[in-house]
Amino acid sequence: MKNVAVIGAGTMGNGIAHTFAQFGYKVQLIDISQAALDKGVATISKNLDRMVAKERITAADKEETLGNIQTFTSVKEGVQYASLVIEAATENSDLKLKIFQELDQICPDDTILATNTSSISITKIAAATSRPDMVIGMHFMNPVPLMKLVEVIRGYNTSDEVTNTVMELSKELNKVPVEVNDYPGFIANRILMPMLNEAIYSLYEGVAGVHEIDTVMKLGMAHPMGPLQLADFIGLDVCLSILNVLYEGFGNPKYAPCPLLVNMVTAGKLGVKSGEGFYDYSESRKAEKIASQFA
Ligand code: NAD
Repeated sequence: MKNVAVIGAGTMGNGIAHTFAQFGYKVQLIDISQAALDKGVATISKNLDRMVAKERITAADKEETLGNIQTFTSVKEGVQYASLVIEAATENSDLKLKIFQELDQICPDDTILATNTSSISITKIAAATSRPDMVIGMHFMNPVPLMKLVEVIRGYNTSDEVTNTVMELSKELNKVPVEVNDYPGFIANRILMPMLNEAIYSLYEGVAGVHEIDTVMKLGMAHPMGPLQLADFIGLDVCLSILNVLYEGFGNPKYAPCPLLVNMVTAGKLGVKSGEGFYDYSESRKAEKIASQFA
């Protein structure tokens, strides 16, 4: 496997492209937006500069990595040589089904089709194709070049061979893959989101304030950031949408999103990306401080 196509050049797509390119793969990075491609490549370059400054790679390594990445606005052109396509486009079920239908039509029969979705059923995405055995979840964590975990999610029909290939490939990228079956939220979000929701309920019910809740979890449980700060960082709209997937998928009220979360999203308070969530990010320095914890 030498050519890997990545669909979507946003937060996750550029991180995935960076990681594969750094390990010597030829990466075809595809986005509908040229501006998103330019921004994605600029982000990769900036992140590589940081690695050079920390002497983790050389300036020549940086150039080699960037040289491994080509950009495309056409899916058809971008995927033609790929043995593996990783879709990291916007989290929208209809959009992903459309992308996978197209990939199924244009990719050779032996191309593995993976998705980085946080919450959409792999089995449902696979059912949009004529090769459900070749469709798999490859759930990287943000920021991809630094985070070790890859949740490898087997759809109902994903073959052992494809699963093994993706597990081995993840190890080649110096990641730790964990095999998971396809049920709502997989493992990461099934466990994380109820914790974040419970933190929001604690605030809603007046058990404690934002700072107090986050301090208990940071100092008491040695979490690198508190749950409310983490929810702001992930995006409150994203948290709400994943909780709804869990709630609808299991039909269990324990996953019902806290009314405060619903209200905040309705009011446009989405966390870091909108400038306000549980914390105020209106001063750019504050947002940078939060982001730097992940750099
Ligand atoms: P993002 O909004 O930063 O980027 C999405 C990109 O997809 C955009 O650049 C957009 O132009 C592009 N796009 C939209 N439609 C497209 C199409 N038809 N063809 C090609 N490109 C298209 O989103 P993100 O945060 O990078 O998330 C991408 C995926 O990764 C989602 O499925 C999300 O659930 C998942 N994910 C996100 C995180 C996270 O922390 N952000 C973590 C794990 C998984």
